[in-house]
Amino acid sequence: MTAMTTDQSTVFWQREAPATVGAPLGRDLDVDVLVIGGGYTGLSSALCLKEAEPGLRVAVIERDFVGFGASGRNSGYLTSLLGHDLWTLRRRLGDERGRVAAAFGAAAVDHVVATIERLGIACDLEMTGLCSPALSPGQERLADRLHAAAAALGVASERWDGARTRAALGVELFRGAFHVPKGGILQPFKLAQGLLAAARAAGVEVYEGTAMESLELGPVVVARAGGRTIRAGHAVVATNAYTREPRAYRRHFAPLHVYSVVTAPLTTAQWEAIGGWRGREGFYTLHHILYALRPTADGRILAATGNVRYFWNDRLHVAESPDYGMLEGAIGWLWPALRGIRIESRWEGVIGVTLSDFPSLGRHPRHANVVHAIAYCGHGVALANYAGTVVRDLVLGRPGAHEGLPFVGKAPFPPVPGEPLRSAVAAGYLGVLRGLDALANRGTRRR
Ligand SMILES: Cc1cc2nc3c(=O)[nH]c(=O)nc-3n(C[C@H](O)[C@H](O)[C@H](O)COP(=O)(O)OP(=O)(O)OC[C@H]3O[C@@H](n4cnc5c(N)ncnc54)[C@H](O)[C@@H]3O)c2cc1C
Repeated sequence: MTAMTTDQSTVFWQREAPATVGAPLGRDLDVDVLVIGGGYTGLSSALCLKEAEPGLRVAVIERDFVGFGASGRNSGYLTSLLGHDLWTLRRRLGDERGRVAAAFGAAAVDHVVATIERLGIACDLEMTGLCSPALSPGQERLADRLHAAAAALGVASERWDGARTRAALGVELFRGAFHVPKGGILQPFKLAQGLLAAARAAGVEVYEGTAMESLELGPVVVARAGGRTIRAGHAVVATNAYTREPRAYRRHFAPLHVYSVVTAPLTTAQWEAIGGWRGREGFYTLHHILYALRPTADGRILAATGNVRYFWNDRLHVAESPDYGMLEGAIGWLWPALRGIRIESRWEGVIGVTLSDFPSLGRHPRHANVVHAIAYCGHGVALANYAGTVVRDLVLGRPGAHEGLPFVGKAPFPPVPGEPLRSAVAAGYLGVLRGLDALANRGTRRR
């Protein structure tokens, strides 16, 4: 173990639960499976493989520290959502295939809950259900459509009226909500660290501070990482929005930047002023580029998204953003009693977004021993964890829950082009979503 700890980070979750960073790779390595990336996908893949075949030698390499990426900086919504929303899912896939996809999302939530219980991971999981409140007549109609789509796809849901929504969430602007009882909120970094402990206990070798520098594909995969050589029978690409190699995967997605803020703990008077938020349901507004707001276990409020940004040529780590101010404003807009509340943490994160809105899982088109699971389009807390079971089945050549799913084993369509078209597509795509949100906002009561 090295002396560096993750509390150097600006991310609230990582500051709240600092972890000691493990040692980097110090020698060359021969393994059965090399997993690249130490987030939920990499750790759950390694753990599932080791549990299925304890004799396999499985190593995970992580460039920074486990949970450095989206897995340690997300909003912690445990959602069964695949793609954009249930109405869109039904429209794209139809009832029959839509039901298979929705059942996969539900199984992903069950898998995470069962894993947390089985491994005893203390990650502040609260199965509160998740709520999508409507701010305008357009969004109320969307809530109706989501409720109808949920029924058609076999997803249990509720349609809350305005009074119930306002009583639950304490936001006078809300006119009603679509509510899915299956889901909840958790502390994402604690989940990643819990998976790390379980993987290590199962015999997985994990090397932090070890960046993959190159990857040669073939019957034996040869990776250079941290100045060392790793030879592996199989490779699992679990680098999500950071994926650079194999190059072909860069066409699967674009990395979009998302910003988050966390307030100081609310006083008892402040909680009472906003109605108590007694059900503690995490909620995201019904915008295409939604605002996500949720309470934390220690009585703060997290606000995230509200905008997403793409930077030229997949630039990563753009920490300064006007979006922080927008999120702080959103807290005061939704709960006027909290205007001016102190913000104690601000951070950026990157999500991998495909143009189909589905994640990308499968085998490399020419090298069947290379498996990837990336680009969950901002819905990876359940899916990236469940992806470990899909990766296990693909590596071991077993039939599995992924069969028949439209996003497993196919390159996402349409592909995201390279620059300079990439920036233009991102600007067009985000422009359309912002335009649709502006239309849906018509009729929103503003203070
Ligand atoms: C701000 C934010 C909020 C989100 N909120 C939610 C939410 O509430 N609910 C939800 O379902 N989803 C949410 N998501 C999405 C979810 O967090 C991700 O889909 C999920 O964590 C992906 O996990 P992963 O393991 O695939 O990727 P990551 O956690 O990003 O892990 C990839 C890892 O690969 C490492 N890596 C990269 N390059 C290399 C290399 N060359 N060598 C070695 N290692 C490398 C990185 O350091 C990183 O740790 C959110 C994402 C963000 C950014």
